[in-house]
Amino acid sequence: MPIQPQNDAGCGWLNILDQRPHTPPLQKDTRSKWLIIGAGYSGLATALTLAENQPNDEIILIDANGAGEGASARNSGYLVDTTLNDGHLSDTGLKSYLQKYELNKKAADNLKQMVAKYKINCDWNECGKFYSSSTFNNEKKLHNFIELLDQLSLKNEFFNQADLSKQLGTDFYKMAVKTFGGAMLQPAALVRGLIDALPKNVSLYENTPVTKIKYGKKHVVHCNHANITAENLIIAVNGFMPSLKIKNNRAFPLLLTASLTRQLTPNEQKHMNNVPEWGVLSANHMGATLRYTSDNRLMIRNTVEVSSSLQLSTNDMQKRKSQHLTGLKARFPFLADDIIEHTWSGVTCISANNANIFDEIYKNCWAVGCYNGGGIGLATLFGQEIAYQALNQTSPTKQLIAARPKPSWLPPQPFLNWGVSLKLAKDKFYATKEV
Ligand SMILES: Cc1cc2nc3c(=O)[nH]c(=O)nc-3n(C[C@H](O)[C@H](O)[C@H](O)COP(=O)(O)OP(=O)(O)OC[C@H]3O[C@@H](n4cnc5c(N)ncnc54)[C@H](O)[C@@H]3O)c2cc1C
Repeated sequence: MPIQPQNDAGCGWLNILDQRPHTPPLQKDTRSKWLIIGAGYSGLATALTLAENQPNDEIILIDANGAGEGASARNSGYLVDTTLNDGHLSDTGLKSYLQKYELNKKAADNLKQMVAKYKINCDWNECGKFYSSSTFNNEKKLHNFIELLDQLSLKNEFFNQADLSKQLGTDFYKMAVKTFGGAMLQPAALVRGLIDALPKNVSLYENTPVTKIKYGKKHVVHCNHANITAENLIIAVNGFMPSLKIKNNRAFPLLLTASLTRQLTPNEQKHMNNVPEWGVLSANHMGATLRYTSDNRLMIRNTVEVSSSLQLSTNDMQKRKSQHLTGLKARFPFLADDIIEHTWSGVTCISANNANIFDEIYKNCWAVGCYNGGGIGLATLFGQEIAYQALNQTSPTKQLIAARPKPSWLPPQPFLNWGVSLKLAKDKFYATKEV
């Protein structure tokens, strides 16, 4: 039995939106030309593209939980084009960096068009982001980054502690490089907008977990209460691919936690010099991601871990919340101890070499996912592109995706969990001051 996603109820980005009623689960056996498993950014983008190109076909979209309530609602909301590092192994060399940048840029431009087309209100703000460090240890890394960006003529700006303090309302950081592409956004509002845009020929069944897939001339997908026989199958479950035995020696799930505060009072905002919205990513792999939102909340994500169950106990969640509070108070000591309103976890997916999954894994069955640190743009782009692939349509983006490396091999369990845990512990040791 595969591990099923179990979303906790703490996701702040979802909780500050109006509630959306779920569609009923699938209850009877069904046949379909098109079936998509997973209704996050990837699956939704696939469904929208298929539905618009095949207006006379029914497209079935199923999710184990509420649509878009997994990582797509739980992420930090950075739509990135340039990346300082991507989690665990950085792409090296100018050519490789440029390739990755071009793909991310294409993805960000594509998402901007989708947001405009479907009129999605997701607090889109092209305010740039700061790659920051609270010590001088990352000085060389940040200067190398500037050199790289300059070589590619990508706009950037260096900030010292005093300048940063004016921009962020804290003097916690010693230095930062600001880049200007991409956007900051409200991730749950984005995914909600994609759900709302689904046309009538998409049938969405929520709370319909897949328990088994039998691949064949027609694929038979077993769900809790019914089976679906599908001519074409697209699997868009990202971090849950390995639990469905898909690419389990190429892709690896990680569990992340984040917290969102209540809105800061005018007095608290004054402590931060009434600065406008900003986003900070750490110069260290394991350092904290921090946002100050347009509605004056602080968001922090400062934990990443290996988890066999892909969820946390109430007790462990409480411990992560304390870590978030410590991180917030290190930067903003005036904050009250009960400032955090929401704490949640989410599952993301990485590969050893930062590569993504975009493959026909059996005849007429495709898998997309594994976006490492940058899934908002890539998931929506890959979702669209896999639909074109399934429709046998060409697209100029196909070349960009094909040029990227394939995920490299990962060792079997339990060695894989041990290895990744060890690497995370080492990275955490070097990032203690950035958490
Ligand atoms: C805390 C956190 C912070 C992040 N921050 C950022 C960021 O700032 N910027 C960025 O670009 N990316 C970020 N990411 C990554 C980003 O959220 C993901 O890459 C992106 O959401 C992937 O979208 P997806 O649709 O492929 O997968 P998901 O959103 O994970 O959707 C997959 C869906 O499949 C469903 N599913 C799984 N198994 C089954 C099953 N057996 N049967 C049926 N349905 C199933 C799940 O319920 C889920 O809804 C972050 C992720 C996390 C967790």
